[in-house]
Amino acid sequence: MTLPLSHPALSATDPEIAALVGAEEQLQADTLRLIPSENYVSQAVLEASGTVLQNKYSEGYAGRRYYEGQQNIDQVELLATTRAKTLFGVEHANVQPYSGSPANLAVYLAFAEPGDTVMGMALPMGGHLTHGWGVSATGKWFRGVQYGVRPDTGLIDFDEVRELALKERPKLIFCGGTALPRTIDFAAFAEIARESGAVLVADIAHIAGLIAGGAHPSPVPHADVISTTTHKTLRGPRGAMLMSREEHARAIDKAVFPGLQGGPHNQTTAAVAVALHEAAQPSFRDYAHAVVANAEALAEALLARGFDLVSGGTDNHLILMDLTPKDVPGKVAAKALDRAGIVVNYNTVPYDPRKPFDPSGVRIGTPSLTSRGLGTEHMPAVAGWIDRGVTAARTGDEEALTAIRAEVADLMAAFPAPGLPTD
Ligand SMILES: *Cc1c(COP(=O)(O)O)cnc(C)c1O
Repeated sequence: MTLPLSHPALSATDPEIAALVGAEEQLQADTLRLIPSENYVSQAVLEASGTVLQNKYSEGYAGRRYYEGQQNIDQVELLATTRAKTLFGVEHANVQPYSGSPANLAVYLAFAEPGDTVMGMALPMGGHLTHGWGVSATGKWFRGVQYGVRPDTGLIDFDEVRELALKERPKLIFCGGTALPRTIDFAAFAEIARESGAVLVADIAHIAGLIAGGAHPSPVPHADVISTTTHKTLRGPRGAMLMSREEHARAIDKAVFPGLQGGPHNQTTAAVAVALHEAAQPSFRDYAHAVVANAEALAEALLARGFDLVSGGTDNHLILMDLTPKDVPGKVAAKALDRAGIVVNYNTVPYDPRKPFDPSGVRIGTPSLTSRGLGTEHMPAVAGWIDRGVTAARTGDEEALTAIRAEVADLMAAFPAPGLPTD
């Protein structure tokens, strides 16, 4: 199905960029997007993020700006903040961080000094770069110590986390990550943080939408600070938020501005407010539960086809597959699946003997396909395509990949994506 052309002003001014935007719209329409950190935002979120609010400078916070002319901007930011507080049940929210990584850096600035010890999950185990990993500023300017998952279960070993925390006495403990298919036990982390005198940071970037929709337990009241992106399961614009109890409000606000950032991106703040409004609707609860139901159904169908899933399955939106038994490296599989119209990312698995740029695994997730309305009844077909695609990757069968691509596009045509042009 060919999408109609849109963006007339852009096409007139800059046909090269307009053509690329159009091609991307077509790609997002035709393919089965399984990258667990991606989604489709609504038309309303898209519209809010492309407005004249982006013309404004607004350093400071609502009612305490360094610029005049904030009559409307202050109200936008107050709406976003109030909606975040209500949705997540927190006392304080800062909606200004530009993205998840700068939000996390602001947490370091608020609660630690350079050289201090911080603790997070190791990147190859499923943590995030900004949780003190060596190549990140957070691992260069702070002393990162890292926990992992057990080799036998693929689950976090809380005895190991406690032992490490009591030995290293970190200032910050991060929980949450980018490749964790299981529920995070925030209460267990909070107990360890209390025992070791650390500030507990729950980084819910991946699962914020599931938490908002009641499909994953909330880190409130266990975590001292909650960091999240707004563009993953929460289905907002690219951005981030920091949330906390009132006692940490000042430290967090000062760290974001003037500590780390200049003017907030007001068009993004408006789109965050819209996404938070959408996430407060009953239909979003259905969405969050459908994301998990789809992931569980997909995991079951993959297990039935002999795939090796880290931790044996999923509780959330995400599945991490170890392709070693299928005799295909993750990168080879991911590239072949991309040619078959199935977009995934290659990923390390815990204790991966291969290198991060050429790992054993593939990471997939259900937020995007659920936003298009696919349900559990479609997951056996999705697993079938993945299975055939992985086999074709091993045997170098390009014809099979082309055939899958057509079948995928056929199904996707019946489920129009939010935010993409239609006739
Ligand atoms: C995505 C993610 C981030 C970083 O977000 P960016 O917006 O890409 O900077 C931080 N922490 C976790 C756990 C994430 O999944």
